[in-house]
Amino acid sequence: MKPISDNNERWEEKLKDLTINVKQIQDKLLEEILTPNLKTEYLQRFNIDRFDKELFKKNVPVVTYEDLKPYIDRVVNGESSDVISARPITGFLLSSGTSGGAQKMMPWNHKYLDNLTFAYDLRKHVVTKHVKGLEEGKGMMFLFTKQESITPSGLPARVATSSYFKSDYFKNRPSNWYYSYTSPDEVILCPNNTQSLYCHLLCGLVERDEVVRMGSIFASVMVRAIKFLETYWEELCLNIRSGQLSEWITDLGCRNSVSLVLKEPLPELADTIETICKQNSWKGIVTRIWPKTKYIETVVTGSMGQYVPTLNYYCSDLPLVSTTYGSSETTFGINLDPLCKPEDVSYAFMPNMSYFEFIPMDGDKRDVVDLKDVKLGCTYEPVVTNFAGLYRMRVGDLLLVTGFYNNAPQFKFVRRENVVLSIDADKTNEEDLFKAVSQVKLVLDASELILVDFTSYADTSTFPGHYVLYLEVKAKEGENKKQKKYLELNEEAFSKSCLVMEDSLDNVYKRCRFKDGSIGPLEIRVVRQGTFDSLMDFFISQGASIGQYKTPRCIKSEKAFEFMEACVVAKFFSS
Ligand code: AMP
Repeated sequence: MKPISDNNERWEEKLKDLTINVKQIQDKLLEEILTPNLKTEYLQRFNIDRFDKELFKKNVPVVTYEDLKPYIDRVVNGESSDVISARPITGFLLSSGTSGGAQKMMPWNHKYLDNLTFAYDLRKHVVTKHVKGLEEGKGMMFLFTKQESITPSGLPARVATSSYFKSDYFKNRPSNWYYSYTSPDEVILCPNNTQSLYCHLLCGLVERDEVVRMGSIFASVMVRAIKFLETYWEELCLNIRSGQLSEWITDLGCRNSVSLVLKEPLPELADTIETICKQNSWKGIVTRIWPKTKYIETVVTGSMGQYVPTLNYYCSDLPLVSTTYGSSETTFGINLDPLCKPEDVSYAFMPNMSYFEFIPMDGDKRDVVDLKDVKLGCTYEPVVTNFAGLYRMRVGDLLLVTGFYNNAPQFKFVRRENVVLSIDADKTNEEDLFKAVSQVKLVLDASELILVDFTSYADTSTFPGHYVLYLEVKAKEGENKKQKKYLELNEEAFSKSCLVMEDSLDNVYKRCRFKDGSIGPLEIRVVRQGTFDSLMDFFISQGASIGQYKTPRCIKSEKAFEFMEACVVAKFFSS
């Protein structure tokens, strides 16, 4: 991909070309992907000896990751890339694995980063069109790198964002505002995420006057950063007052680079921050500490939607901008209307990223269609053919077509497909769960409680089995109230939440529960404060990356279940 100069008109032209010539670009891309790969062992199986789109679609099956895994594993274990890819595979990407189950390993090469940087540059152009006055400032971005592992074949296996931060693409990135951060690169590259987060905050506080945007890849990390500030602001102020970084920050990269940001004692700044943080309510804390912030750049769609009220609370309703829909397989699309409301976000697919096909969810699943042929108002699962050896692989997300930008379809992220609670004939997916929990939120809200986070579990250890909802809540104001006290005070609210939750589930659930008796009363297990932060730490210790972490909406692993159980402080049942 040729670099495009940092010129808005050129980018506008490029965007026009991409969104008008969707079919031509997709067809050309497929040819580019397939031609060198016809001799791979994988494609040879399907008797395609020349590039022919129709033959490809007829002969090569639509598959899941599990179908491709045996081939990928062979390359992981040292066989040549051309089992699946003529272009050398130079690494693997670990998908977050917390939403769907086990962590997957996707073959990777530099094309992934070409696409990613293209998406970053396009994003910058789109944001510049909508938000003015960003050029002079910096971003306080909570970005992290996770330690990589090495496969038996000697190739690195890492999470998508780390593959970027560790590359020359990041090191030699352009020097414009979109790539200028308050944190030195060493902080982003530090393998210890707690030390890294502390330093991100410290640098952002020292340079508070320069911060014009803030964010993280997913909203959960942004919320975690604010909570971390709530715990550490006194220590951070001590550091600022003395000009000395805390001793427990032992990472040398962090120590050396942060000392160039915090060069001297700054007692006045420490006083100002202390005065702001000491106030009883933390409503609007972000805009009070960083008043020049114009927007928060973080994904708040899909399962991240639940963090919107919390972010609105802390950030005084600053625009929450979800820029990109992407995964370890590929970048899919960009939000071309960045200032729209979180619930209205759609992503325009970029036809130069990978070859995209779509399985219709509303019709015959065998009628897989091209990007240019998706229909407004219909729901699809995307299928990817990329430059690193994935052919017609299902992604596992459900997307709704909400419109077109020129000819480029725009998709709303509906949910991940495979997260379900099921006891009998009932199948409760992530979207159903979110809907039901949004009703619970209303009940809690009326009792002055905030829902911090939730997950669920299908408990079949009892007969009949029943749904369990784990909730972490906190009191709206006066957070120092004793937890025991609010549990006692709000017993009624929790019992009512059980009823409201059941009432919001679908008819199959209700039939099983109330008519057939094959599902028992729904149970809410309230967990102690901080549980979901610790759950994140737990998953990170198991190999998940902080940057890509998504709270699992259903607990599937035994270890995670034991972890949650140890945090339960009260149980309530639907009557
Ligand atoms: P991973 O491959 O681990 O990076 O996870 C990719 C998955 O994260 C996607 O398949 C989606 O389920 C989810 N995801 C990524 N971007 C978004 C987004 N903008 N909105 C909602 N979900 C997203």
